[in-house]
Amino acid sequence: MPSYKAPVRDTRFVLEEVLDIGQYAALPGFGELTPELMNSILEEGARFTEEVLQPLNQTGDRSGCTRDANHAVTTPPGFKRAYHQFIEAGWGGLSGDPAYGGQGLPHVISTAFEEYLISANMAFSMYPGLTLGAIAAITAVGSDEQKALYLPPMVAGRWTGTMNLTEAHCGTDLGLLRTRAEPAPDGSYRLTGTKIFISAGEHDLSENIIHLVLARIPGSPESVKGISLFIVPKFLVNPDGSLGPRNAVTCGALEEKMGIHGNATCVMNYEGATGFLVGERDKGLRAMFIMMNAARLGVGLQGLAISEVATQNAANYARDRLQGRALGGVKNLQGPADPIIVHPDVRRMLMTARAFNEGARALALWGALQVDLAHLAPAPEARQDAEDLIGLLTPVIKAYFTDQGYFNATNAQQCFGGHGYVRDWGMEQFVRDARIAMVYEGTNGVQALDLVGRKLAAHGGRALRLFLREVTTAVENARKTPATAEAAETLGCALADLQGATGWLMRSALTRPEQAGAASTPYLYLLALVALGHVWLRMLVVAERKLAEGGESAFHANKRITAHYFFRHALPETAVHRARVEVGADPVMALAAEDF
Ligand SMILES: Cc1cc2nc3c(=O)[nH]c(=O)nc-3n(C[C@H](O)[C@H](O)[C@H](O)COP(=O)(O)OP(=O)(O)OC[C@H]3O[C@@H](n4cnc5c(N)ncnc54)[C@H](O)[C@@H]3O)c2cc1C
Repeated sequence: MPSYKAPVRDTRFVLEEVLDIGQYAALPGFGELTPELMNSILEEGARFTEEVLQPLNQTGDRSGCTRDANHAVTTPPGFKRAYHQFIEAGWGGLSGDPAYGGQGLPHVISTAFEEYLISANMAFSMYPGLTLGAIAAITAVGSDEQKALYLPPMVAGRWTGTMNLTEAHCGTDLGLLRTRAEPAPDGSYRLTGTKIFISAGEHDLSENIIHLVLARIPGSPESVKGISLFIVPKFLVNPDGSLGPRNAVTCGALEEKMGIHGNATCVMNYEGATGFLVGERDKGLRAMFIMMNAARLGVGLQGLAISEVATQNAANYARDRLQGRALGGVKNLQGPADPIIVHPDVRRMLMTARAFNEGARALALWGALQVDLAHLAPAPEARQDAEDLIGLLTPVIKAYFTDQGYFNATNAQQCFGGHGYVRDWGMEQFVRDARIAMVYEGTNGVQALDLVGRKLAAHGGRALRLFLREVTTAVENARKTPATAEAAETLGCALADLQGATGWLMRSALTRPEQAGAASTPYLYLLALVALGHVWLRMLVVAERKLAEGGESAFHANKRITAHYFFRHALPETAVHRARVEVGADPVMALAAEDF
């Protein structure tokens, strides 16, 4: 049976020692987040996820969700009870708007908790996760009446939310979508069409489900410019907030899929269902992107969270499993063999994952802090900077974290040898669960295109310039101290790779757009590694300072070891990615389609 221990000490290191979130105490929400409250949220969150949700992870995977003849969907045994415990404890509303019953705490603390939630049970985490995305969209573009009617029960978790974009013939290219929304005399709309792959589309956890649906109003352009966003409640809602009649939306089937079996992935049939326009007509995609940006960071967190739990189990196994003898001399004199953790190749897998997990945690929490600062920083320039940085890094976090999360999950499985391939150890579930995060919320290939096609060029490259400036300053400062000089030097080289690749991209893509398409994924990896290098340098600086002050030596000394692994082993990969960018599109595009 796999186990899970929430990495509370490491989260606290990032929040308190690296990001120093105490410095933001004057901002709304941060003032309430005293060190005592923060610790109790992390400790309680750890307890809840380890004791209530993790034990349901394997059983939920095995039993999955079921659908009956009346289209009702039942979640795995234990999910309903756990969900009620979840909402009673207020976990879903940690950073919800107090105007709608939320606790108003910073996004950065709810992100820390969400990592634990996903590690413990990714399938379960998606029910409240989708709701947060729906809340973000209604908050951003809903009318005051819509907010007052829908948000309080959603923030409380009594109602959940979904996002309905995908149709059988259109996933990435939403301009093709066919679901129709006919205006009704009372100002509402009647929606007709079929959506597929809808996460949490139907289930038994909440009293109502608020579907956010993209559809086209007759007469609107047949492209992404003609898509509008609608609220379609499972049960129509009376003006006083009580539930009215059942709407004409049903779950037509459950998808039989590779992983996250405890989460219902539904075909949703809209048969003249009553819907309400959210935001402006034909501007639905823009509204949905608000939801998707928040959701993309959440999906990036899935990559980290699965990598973390898989690594923990692999490390535990590697300490126990006896095979062969250490190359440098016998370590386990009393036993018939040494534990496999002595073997450098096993360590390579564990250290690669560990360096990613700790770096990704710091980058995810830094990113969540930018989301907070983009709304709350007192100076408009500071809000703009935070928004630019998180806008630039959202596709990077989504794609790199999930690619790497899957890679680390398979490496963790590899540490188990053949035992990783069988069900009981739970490792193959981590691999299956991690796989989908590379696909939904926009495939990772599409994230890379978003980065090179949109984010780099936005506002004349303002976001990238700011990012490069921040990394350059960090490198220059760290160069001055012997303990951090080597790491700063390596990050300086990686930065030069990024600058070189960016210059090449800017020059080449202008004349031939295929160059940008071919370069997009290696460029995203390159930027991801520099971003991780930046947070690792910050962590190393703190660890060295604490060690010099005689702080908590074991924790900070291990941080130093892992930092050096990252700088010496992982970061030099930027040179390969730069070479892949600068080789251009020809090697990728040369073979004729019929010759594949
Ligand atoms: C378990 C699960 C849960 C999901 N949950 C939801 C949900 O809650 N709501 C929802 O609306 N959808 C959901 N989806 C759908 C998911 O978002 C889509 O599957 C995804 O966006 C890709 O669309 P597609 O499957 O049609 O692939 P396609 O768009 O057909 O893409 C196929 C391949 O081509 C590539 N490709 C396509 N276009 C381009 C391009 N222009 N340039 C480069 N490469 C390109 C893609 O990267 C991909 O590798 C879910 C899917 C699954 C499997």
